[in-house]
Amino acid sequence: MRTLIISDVHSNIEALTTVIADAEAGGAVGAIWCTGDLVGYGPDPVAVIALLRESKTIAVAGNHDLVACGQMGVEEFNPVAAEAALWTRDQLTPDEQAYLAGLPLVHTEGAFTLVHGSLRHPDWEYLLTPEQALDQFALQTTPHSIVGHSHLSFYVNESQPPLFLRARDRDTVALETTRLILNPGSSGQPRDGDPRASYMLYDDAAATVTWHRVAYDIAATQRKILATGLPAWLGERLEKGK
Ligand code: ZN
Repeated sequence: MRTLIISDVHSNIEALTTVIADAEAGGAVGAIWCTGDLVGYGPDPVAVIALLRESKTIAVAGNHDLVACGQMGVEEFNPVAAEAALWTRDQLTPDEQAYLAGLPLVHTEGAFTLVHGSLRHPDWEYLLTPEQALDQFALQTTPHSIVGHSHLSFYVNESQPPLFLRARDRDTVALETTRLILNPGSSGQPRDGDPRASYMLYDDAAATVTWHRVAYDIAATQRKILATGLPAWLGERLEKGK
């Protein structure tokens, strides 16, 4: 079975629909997993939540999801993120907020643990250093973990010290040679200089994960951001991939 793994969709329905279509173009997708930040920043929180619920996506909560359902304040957010987060909260019905509030911070699925930030600080830590990776491996009860939050696509081998490797389009890693920390990158707001939506495919028969990048209609998302009155920078950054 092929599983589509996404993260940091950030209310970007154009990116999400393009990612799903691109993944399905290569063969049937049996499940979707998402490591948080379904909403925040982008103009379509309602449509993104609806599509992910309809697709029976297995998701964990990100910090933006927690703000959008009122479980976290915006004190730690920069002003632009805070404005978008509070706008997002206003768009959602009590039912949509309850859906986000019901997402776990950590979820185990077979050989994988899903968490937005890190296992020691699920809703805020950016896992970016070998020291953090060592702690993550120590807390992992499964062979592999999948994180998001940094909007960067990479994987970390459990070597001494742990080795961070950037994952580019079509990069594939075998799952059975080492324990791994995996980041699919951001579908809705990549920050590695490549504006194309990022995602990962897990093939359980081959025991591999492969990263993919796909171009989507950024201009359409930018127009909606301006039309809703969200900060213009949130549209500009999409074409820069930062
Ligand atoms: Zn995010």
